[in-house]
Amino acid sequence: ANSILSSFGTTIFETMSRLAQAHGAVNLGQGFPEGLESSEVIAKAAEALVNGPNQYPSMMGTPELRQAIAAHDKRFYGLELDPMAEVMVTSGATEALASCLFGLIEPGDEVVLIEPLYDSYLPIIRRAGGIPKLVRVAPPHWDLPREALAAAFSHKTKLIIINSPMNPAGKVWDAEELAFLAGLLERHDAYAVCDEVYEHLVYDQRRHIPLMTLPGMRERCLKIGSAGKIFSLTGWKVGWVIAAPALLQPVAKAHQYLTFTTPPNLQTAVAFGLGLGDDYYGGLRALLQARRDHLAEGLSRVGFEVLATGGSYFISADFRPLGYNGSDEDFCRMITEKAGVAAIPVSAFYQAKDVSHFARFCFAKTDAAIDQAVDRLGRYF
Ligand code: PMP
Ligand code: GLN
Repeated sequence: ANSILSSFGTTIFETMSRLAQAHGAVNLGQGFPEGLESSEVIAKAAEALVNGPNQYPSMMGTPELRQAIAAHDKRFYGLELDPMAEVMVTSGATEALASCLFGLIEPGDEVVLIEPLYDSYLPIIRRAGGIPKLVRVAPPHWDLPREALAAAFSHKTKLIIINSPMNPAGKVWDAEELAFLAGLLERHDAYAVCDEVYEHLVYDQRRHIPLMTLPGMRERCLKIGSAGKIFSLTGWKVGWVIAAPALLQPVAKAHQYLTFTTPPNLQTAVAFGLGLGDDYYGGLRALLQARRDHLAEGLSRVGFEVLATGGSYFISADFRPLGYNGSDEDFCRMITEKAGVAAIPVSAFYQAKDVSHFARFCFAKTDAAIDQAVDRLGRYF
């Protein structure tokens, strides 16, 4: 009963989705898109299910997908990658993260983390014997506390996890913040696991900059992507890790005992999808930006104080102006059960539960779902 993992509860995403289902709520909680699924990519997968391949592919991923990932990162970021030595396909970014952490962390290594924190990082770090060092960015501006970040590094630091664009903050790290971090990694001879699952979901002329593209960072970064986010097919669980060969090797050792491989037909379809034209990527971004604005406008009308979002699927909104002074967990349960709209409490992304008056809403939903949610909230408050 006292094992490391038993101290963690059921993930908030599962909890809130089940509660939403039980109450017939519009689910703006868990981050999965609706009405954005790429039908071309789905058709490719259907064809590959019927015609194969259907047996174990290479543990590193199909050559065709590894090449497509390398080509994607050259096209968008100018990275020159050897697809056979520097790219590994995983079963979602979640597995990519676990493989990186189990592959690289030795008991007693320190790991720097920045809150708000995606919920799969900490349990795996603890299970691997790592010692988390937490730094936080906080609403409403989510500014990087440079001194605290520098102070979190020591000679025991093995790596940092950075998530940009950031869930749930919607913060997109800029070039100066990344350069500051790069300096710390060099000074402390540390690595960065870069969770870039929302790489294409950046708005208002912002640009996603992979830390790996900064000088000196090519050998220090493990860059993680997710087809679930790029093609709005989150249930597929196809992800990848890109890293220099010496860094990828221990990660591949962990991967071979975690999942070993990933469905080959989905890999075929994702390889096709990554080659889609700029109209696809630009179209997705434009659609999501419009939905972000639509939801932000609706929530403001209801009376929330809505925070700015530069990237990801998420808006955080302060509910105190509605006159509610309880915790964010209670607020999210209340609106799920009573108003019929599910959201995620932002405190779920912090260890100390003191950031407790923001709800996270996912805007990657249909306009009809957004309208219905705003309408229900408007009636309730
Ligand atoms: N990292 C972040 C920041 C996420 O929000 C998510 C969630 N979808 C993941 C990783 C996991 O991605 P995947 O579904 O590809 O495992
Ligand atoms: N990443 C998604 C979110 O933040 C959900 C992932 C999950 O359900 N584990 O909502």
